Formats: sequence, structure tokens, C-alpha cells
Amino acid sequence: MNEAERERRRELLATAAAAADACRRCAIGYERRNNVYGEGDPCARLMVVGEGPGETEDQLGRPFVGRAGQLLDRMLGAIGLPREDVYICNTVKCRPTFAGPNGPRNRAPEPEEMANCRPFLDEQIEIVAPDVILALGAPAAKSFLGRDFAITKMRGRWYAGPRETPLMVSFHPAYILRQTGGEIEAVKRLVWSDLKAVRAKLDEPIEPAPEQAEAQAAQAGLFE
Ligand code: URA
Repeated sequence: MNEAERERRRELLATAAAAADACRRCAIGYERRNNVYGEGDPCARLMVVGEGPGETEDQLGRPFVGRAGQLLDRMLGAIGLPREDVYICNTVKCRPTFAGPNGPRNRAPEPEEMANCRPFLDEQIEIVAPDVILALGAPAAKSFLGRDFAITKMRGRWYAGPRETPLMVSFHPAYILRQTGGEIEAVKRLVWSDLKAVRAKLDEPIEPAPEQAEAQAAQAGLFE
């Protein structure tokens, strides 16, 4: 992708991020410290969509920068993708919390919060136009594929995401970090197979659009 196009998309994302920052559609919009819009290459071929910002993300205004984020960086690195080459965001841009005895605690986003935030996510997908989306965890999967999505049974397959983008679902890195004992190896194996599927999809030759294919055939004098 050329630099002018990258800059154009960067500017679109910055404008969209400012609109998300001003949003107070949900109560969590008043409670969070920072709006965690997303970051990465505006021309990324892979977009990673997580659940929602946690405490560290809320503090720093950046997605996936806590422990789960460090694991995500290693997962992406394992398929040859430095974090900077990917676009990383969440289904909701504000940290969902409940009141704990020692301050706010993380919780999963409510369906209504995901629905309120969905226009921001759709806009990001429109601007970045990734070739592949990787949804991490059940909330992210449900936001794309409906409330009945059962991650243990239905992850690891290709679905059609927004803009017909190939969508893979895998376990969330925070879930991997929570596993103990015998489960951990099985979960790691499944996640690795999902990541390899993403790599293989990104490595597939890109079909030219029909008009482009026609133009190429004409240029080659194929049907003269
Ligand atoms: N978990 C998520 O789903 N997203 C983040 O940004 C961080 C942790």
C-alpha cells in the first residue's frame, strides 16, 4: 500500500477516534479514563478484534497492552506478524467495569454496549479494509456472529464477517492465561491451529476483481 493511502486512512481513523472519544452513549463512557479506539497499521491485512479494554488499556488509551496483550504480541509474532503490521481494536472502546471492594473491576461488555459501539467498529473495518479479521473470545465472536455463538464448538472455522471479510474466531489470550494443568496444552494447540489458518489465509494468492481480471486478459491479448 502506498504512503499516501496510508496517510489518508490514518487521517480518517483519527477523525473517527475523536468521534468515539466524544461518545457517551453508555454509562461506561462516563466511567472510563481513556477511550481505547484502536491502533496499528491503517492498511493492515489483519485486524484483531478483542473484547474491551482492561485496566492497563484504560490507563494508557491503547488496546492489548497488559498481560493478555503481551501474549497477543507473541501469538502474532509466531505467525510472522509484528504488532505494528496489524490493526488491533475491541468490540467496545470504553472499559466495562463493575464496582469491586478495592475499586473498579473488569467485566465483559453488555450486548447493548457492544451494539452502541458497533458503528465505530464497522467504521474501522471500512477504513482499514483488512483481508482477514481475527475475533478473540466469545464476546467479540458474538458481536459478529450472533448471541448463540458457542466458542468451544464453533471457533477455528471461517465465517463471513463485515464486508464479507474472512473471519476467524479463537480463544482470547486472557483465557489462555487463566488455564491451568492439563487444559493448557489442549487450548494452546487449538489456538495455534487457528493462528496457522490465519497465516494460510493471508498467504493465499489474491484473486483480481472481475473487471481487473478482464483488463489483464485484454492486455495480454488473450481473446484476440
Ligand atoms: N482484553 C481485550 O479484549 N482487549 C484489550 O484491549 C485488552 C484485554
